[in-house]
Amino acid sequence: MHENSYKDLLHNVEKPSRYSGNEWNVVKKDLEKIDLSICLAFPDIYEVAMSHLGFKILYHIINSRDEFAAERVNAPWTDFEKILREKNMPLRSLESQLELNKFDLVGFTLQYEMSYTNILNMLDLGHIPVLSQDRGEDAPLVIAGGPCAFNPEPLHNIIDAFVIGEGEEAILELLDTVKKGKKQGLKRDELLRELTKIQGVYVPKYYQGKYDENGVYKGTFPTDEGIPKTITKRFIRDMSQSSFPQDMMVPYMDIVHDRIMLEICRGCSRGCRFCQAGMLYRPVREKNLETLLEQAEKLVKSTGYGEISLSSLSSADHSQIHDLAKGLVDTYKDKGVGVSLPSLRVDSFSIELAEMVQQVRKTGLTFAPEAGSQRLRDVINKNVTEENLINAVSDAFKSGWNRVKLYFMIGLPTETYEDLDGIVDLAEKVVAEYKKHGKNMKRFSVTVSTSSFVPKPHTPFQWVPQFSKEELVNRQNYLKSKLKSRYINYSWHDVEVSYLEAIFAKGDRKLADVLYTAWKKGCKMDGWGEHFKYDIWLDSFKELEVNPDNYAYATPQADNPLPWDHISSGVNKKYMALEYKRALKEEITEDCSFGACGGCGACNNLKYDVKKVRRGQDA
Ligand code: SF4
Repeated sequence: MHENSYKDLLHNVEKPSRYSGNEWNVVKKDLEKIDLSICLAFPDIYEVAMSHLGFKILYHIINSRDEFAAERVNAPWTDFEKILREKNMPLRSLESQLELNKFDLVGFTLQYEMSYTNILNMLDLGHIPVLSQDRGEDAPLVIAGGPCAFNPEPLHNIIDAFVIGEGEEAILELLDTVKKGKKQGLKRDELLRELTKIQGVYVPKYYQGKYDENGVYKGTFPTDEGIPKTITKRFIRDMSQSSFPQDMMVPYMDIVHDRIMLEICRGCSRGCRFCQAGMLYRPVREKNLETLLEQAEKLVKSTGYGEISLSSLSSADHSQIHDLAKGLVDTYKDKGVGVSLPSLRVDSFSIELAEMVQQVRKTGLTFAPEAGSQRLRDVINKNVTEENLINAVSDAFKSGWNRVKLYFMIGLPTETYEDLDGIVDLAEKVVAEYKKHGKNMKRFSVTVSTSSFVPKPHTPFQWVPQFSKEELVNRQNYLKSKLKSRYINYSWHDVEVSYLEAIFAKGDRKLADVLYTAWKKGCKMDGWGEHFKYDIWLDSFKELEVNPDNYAYATPQADNPLPWDHISSGVNKKYMALEYKRALKEEITEDCSFGACGGCGACNNLKYDVKKVRRGQDA
């Protein structure tokens, strides 16, 4: 352990466990005896970081190699940051309390655009120059991955190299390349150049945006020979064979998802047109039953958790979900270990599944109809009907559930006030259904939660402008005035946050300066309401003469280059344009795992056969 540890500071902070480390199943290596160290950095607080499965998977994969060490760091809450700054103490890793700037690499996960300022802040607190161009030979390589890396441009001058796609597939190759490069004595630039040879790695300094004489964007292109024009994502072909931690860390404090997270599938073939994850993680892949039961057994033993959450984008779509749930419940119900499904699709929900997972304990049920009317659900390709939802909640109420959460989005393309009436109507029908079948009105509640639609890159709605902030507020107020039942609670999201999210989601390199300026002026923890400083953001846009509306409200033509066109998820842009047209015609597209292939290009581009794999055969 480093001698200047946090030990004497933590009595002054609100939650010392965020920074103390030493959790159950933590991996601590002697850093003198390894070849390469990486600090996995989560740009949010500990409770969020420790709930993130991808982070744990990477930690496990890297640490499974003797010559590498992965440690962790999360964004300090403002109380601890204040102490670090006052004492001019660097941010350190949780395992060895090593200063961030002493690692060979620092790897950020990019889950959410509103965490970008925390990246700058963590680098600064770790005494690493915030801008790539200012980092010397001794500074760590700063890498990043995760869904937001599919539009890396707003961070092009902060991150040295991005890993596009599933990090577990590329991380060891990347570390091997760095290890080899360091042994050969390569300079930082030479090493970065080497990284461009790895499929799925994007090194922004070797690319430049081109503009015509009128300043119209024409695309981003490599600056040198031999640098790939397009960076295609990495992905795991066989989830059952992929490395998964079987002795996950258990924290000493409450975290957001404090349970075993057993990932059962990756990707989703339903094809919701607003959903970025559904497009980015195509084609869908699942783990086989045998592997899942085995992993569950090891995780229960190694963690002692009392709940196994079957995690994925759409858990009820796993082809063996009933056998899996039954197998787990039968094995663990007498040991006090429950099974939960994070979110259920209303069409694949069944009373049998509901009854199975409720045997140990009943948590609230969450459904996401997303839109209130069938017309709008067809626009977004959410292939569920009102009848599906009512049948699902009716089954649930008969089985004894009392609490239901319904997630919707407002401001979806083509949305009208009639569609909002559909939300109210649906919520009231759920209440009526409980009155028919429920057992205890006093314990019953329906929570209607609305987020504002944010158009995301690599989706069919990447060309859609967001509704204005004023209009989104009008729509929230409309729902507030209509959702009057005493059994219905309504929650909504801050529209200004959604506006900024849309700007950075669809951002280009010009936003990097805005980001830097906003951070310098004090923006951080933007995803936390009490810290979001909208006025500073607006000042920063103004100061740099960048109009934020040109991003959030942009309506690019389908054949115009987009700032993320050089990054490929495997899904063709033409397919997304076609899907957008179909949306406007209110036409639905089938789920490609169970129906016809929609021709998105992912299987062909990534040389994969989704139907064969779905049925347990090799790709
Ligand atoms: S290529 Fe066809 S089967 Fe494969 S993910 Fe796309 S739509 Fe589905």
